[in-house]
Amino acid sequence: MGATSPEAYAEFLGERRAELMARIADAASRAGRSAQDVTLLAVSKTVDVPEMLLAAKQGYAAFGENRPQDLQRKAEALRGVPGIRIDMIGNLQRNKINKVLGNAELVHSISSLHLAEAVSNRAQARGIEVRCLLEVNVSGEESKSGMAPSDAARAAERMMELPSVSVEGLMTMAPAGNLSAARACFSGLRELRDELRVSTGLELPTLSCGMSGDFEVAIEEGSTLVRLGRIVFDPSYVDVRR
Ligand SMILES: *Cc1c(COP(=O)(O)O)cnc(C)c1O
Repeated sequence: MGATSPEAYAEFLGERRAELMARIADAASRAGRSAQDVTLLAVSKTVDVPEMLLAAKQGYAAFGENRPQDLQRKAEALRGVPGIRIDMIGNLQRNKINKVLGNAELVHSISSLHLAEAVSNRAQARGIEVRCLLEVNVSGEESKSGMAPSDAARAAERMMELPSVSVEGLMTMAPAGNLSAARACFSGLRELRDELRVSTGLELPTLSCGMSGDFEVAIEEGSTLVRLGRIVFDPSYVDVRR
């Protein structure tokens, strides 16, 4: 919250949320879609529990964390708040899986079959089922995590045989600062999903893509879940409207 009072920060969060919901609705309608079909995930990795509580009061219900430790701590702190979910969106190392199990509603960052197998093993030992997305490196940038698109079909098929994970869709990160490259990345994710639907028979309803700088493009290309961090929580974020 920095120097601002909780009241002023809450007001900022509420006003910003109203703007974001309107922009999401506009982007959805440009694509002939319903805003109902797009989940706004508030990426809370740069804020702490008090800010998340203020955000929840302003109507945010879904949060995203990229570190297992933080996810676990925040999930425990927010356990008593009804209607809140936290998703795991960041790189997941195998020795941190237990921090996420039972705390994350959806794990977006299944970046290899190996990781999926490890998650399934741990989940089975605890008698739970983990909802997952396959993280795919659609843009092919070396800095990006995620499996190659050409590996996704095999990973999805193999995951269908694992006892304690379910594959509910795909996630990607687009190249930053280049909207046409981002658009190509998002449409590539959608096309891959359509291919996997046919080849695996899975429904794959969730496409997790779009961040503060490119969420409208992502929605135009079929995103069902946008992961917004700075634009939700940072009053000093400079929005480059296009
Ligand atoms: C931080 C993060 C986001 C949110 O990024 P912003 O540009 O702040 O909206 C989305 N997805 C992942 C995986 C992240 O780590």
